Amino acid sequence: MKDRLIKPDFAFNYKKNEFCVEGIPLSKLADRYGSPLYVYSGAAIRESYSRLSAALRGLPVQICYAVKANSNLSILELFKKLGAGCDLVSYGEWYRAELAGMPRKLRVLSGVAKTAEEFDQLLQLPNAGVGSIHVESVMEFELIHLLAHYRKKKVTVAFRYNPNVDAKTHDKISTGRKKDKFGITREEILDLCVNFSHDEFVHIAGISIHIGSQITNTAPYAKAFAILSKLCDEVEEYLGRDLDYVDLGGGIGVSYREQDTTISLKEYAALVKKYFHSSQRKMKKILLEPGRSLIANAGALVSEVVYSKERGSHRTLILDAGMNDLMRPALYEAYHEIVSIKKEADIKRVKWDVVGGICESTDYFARSRPLQVEGLPGERIAILSAGAYGFSMSNSYNTRPQLAEVLVDRGKVKLIRKRQTLQELVALEK
Ligand code: PLP
Repeated sequence: MKDRLIKPDFAFNYKKNEFCVEGIPLSKLADRYGSPLYVYSGAAIRESYSRLSAALRGLPVQICYAVKANSNLSILELFKKLGAGCDLVSYGEWYRAELAGMPRKLRVLSGVAKTAEEFDQLLQLPNAGVGSIHVESVMEFELIHLLAHYRKKKVTVAFRYNPNVDAKTHDKISTGRKKDKFGITREEILDLCVNFSHDEFVHIAGISIHIGSQITNTAPYAKAFAILSKLCDEVEEYLGRDLDYVDLGGGIGVSYREQDTTISLKEYAALVKKYFHSSQRKMKKILLEPGRSLIANAGALVSEVVYSKERGSHRTLILDAGMNDLMRPALYEAYHEIVSIKKEADIKRVKWDVVGGICESTDYFARSRPLQVEGLPGERIAILSAGAYGFSMSNSYNTRPQLAEVLVDRGKVKLIRKRQTLQELVALEK
């Protein structure tokens, strides 16, 4: 069993002097599909999925892929084939899961702002078209209860618990602290259990947590699991029966650079076992909601130099991709490896600021980054580890059409999203 998740170079690496995905030069893909271009590797997705599954073998685990990380329909289909369910955070994502044919009973629906209109649509379907709805507030529970009784439809829910644990990750991707907007408290959960334990239409099935993203050591998980396990005891006592499942959320961090250390999958699995599948507590089912860990290092963003500027020793590389295409560096000061897609030994490695063309001073992919590029128009680079929260967070700010996406899998190249045209971009406007 491989104990760590894949690194950026698993599927993306040099073959002779060409930077390739699964052996196919990225320059070929950019020639064919244009630039900028998102490129994904099916092999890298399969490998990430199988490493995580292997670590958890023997436990009653169901992986529910967090669709928000990368919600392309072809990617969802691939996860479906691997046996994944899905974690959804909006009715829109539910619609994508429906189109991709992901099994309804393996869908969980989180999100702090699910509306009455959305619930009304879902309640037309058996068990609201999902395995379970993860309730994030008392008001949301009351609304579900009201609608379920009004429509006389059964629905399964779990509580998204806010355990007040600091995941020690970037402030902007931390979700499990009291001050964060997510989830509901122990007191609120116990209150709802007292009042609704034997409800005719609303079945309380489990508790879920998700404490944050890009978590690179297991300590915050250990803390959160211990608190969650205690709450499971209390909830079961209040309900007078066992829970059907716990959901431990996502958050497993990845290596954005070769030297980054991340979570040992063995250690993570041992914690899951200790708290939820030991002699003390044996859950019938354990759900996980990984997103980033399954797809971040399965994607790259290919981009082309438009211009460069040299002012003394200060150099700026201006790309055709911008922060609207890949938000993470601008949003979280996230690090992404950048490589030239043609290796030329005689080009000197010097420091560059790498920027996009958006009219915002945060539109930087990197600052003072040593790169082996010349800075000539048309020269291509690849921004690595862009598979998660890349395209799915992209937008058309500055009226820039959204990019094309390509999936390379088992020797086949498939355009999985066409490049948006300007006509499509403005089509809904009057
Ligand atoms: N589950 C929930 C409820 C989330 O909000 C998120 C991401 O924010 C995830 C799962 C996936 O997290 P990650 O991509 O870090 O695994």
